[in-house]
Amino acid sequence: MTPVTVQEALGRGAARLAAAGIDSPLLDASLLLAEALGLDRSRLILAYPDPLPGAARLRFEGFLERRLAGDCTAYILGRKEFRALEFTVSPAVLVPRPDTETLVEAALHWCKKLAGKNGPLGRDLRLLDLCTGSGAVAVALKHEAPGLEVCASDISPEALAIAGINAERLLKDSKVRLVQSDLFSRITGSFHLITANPPYICSGDLEGLSPEVKREPRLALDGGPGGLDLIRALIAGAPEHLYPGGLLLLEADPRQMKQVRLELETGGFKGIQSYRDLSGAERVIGGFVYGKQP
Ligand code: GLN
Repeated sequence: MTPVTVQEALGRGAARLAAAGIDSPLLDASLLLAEALGLDRSRLILAYPDPLPGAARLRFEGFLERRLAGDCTAYILGRKEFRALEFTVSPAVLVPRPDTETLVEAALHWCKKLAGKNGPLGRDLRLLDLCTGSGAVAVALKHEAPGLEVCASDISPEALAIAGINAERLLKDSKVRLVQSDLFSRITGSFHLITANPPYICSGDLEGLSPEVKREPRLALDGGPGGLDLIRALIAGAPEHLYPGGLLLLEADPRQMKQVRLELETGGFKGIQSYRDLSGAERVIGGFVYGKQP
């Protein structure tokens, strides 16, 4: 093999990814090359003039092959950044999306509104995060509002194991309670706030998704024939598990918002409000439950 510098390898790798139609070829190639070299990505640029060692070259080649075969970069690296925290991910969980930060922000907004003068943000509030997957929403919220008492749940034991790894590593001493449950089936007690990023893609649309998304767990994506099966079940089950004045916050597809709003109204929710994601689309919606003693 003729020797190449780190910069040349990066350029060639990015060109191969671009030729295959991958969206962010330079970002992906630099993340994979930094990993192959055992470097933080921010330090990669300093290594540009250096020759790429043979072992790193082989590792980089292997990563590129996997990326070209349809694995997303997060699965190859085994991690993904969300709310400035590095989450462990595996094919057992959906890769946390920037859009889902909207769900965390909406929940924090509400915690701040309720916050007392003293004590940690979220103090005395109980949060339930359903369909938690990697635990991104639950762990980020506990990290940013340490006063919250957090319970995170998922139907998949494999996903819950990943959520446990993330809670342990990213939260140090503070705890998240993990419960394996099909939505509310094994959830006991009442909460002030329920968050969920449930599966919401129409079953019929799954085949048309990108190869990367198709490698994510179907269980985390398939929302049934109209995409709303899980959302409807969450809206139906939440009042029983919310204290009066409690809030349900859901992520959904922006095209589903009108229908979800209607379902929330029919389910007795008040003060319904939606929140926009980074692209300006309505991505999260929620409402309050009053007057029901759980
Ligand atoms: N946002 C995801 C996607 O569009 C879907 C996540 C979900 O179903 N909860 O790929």
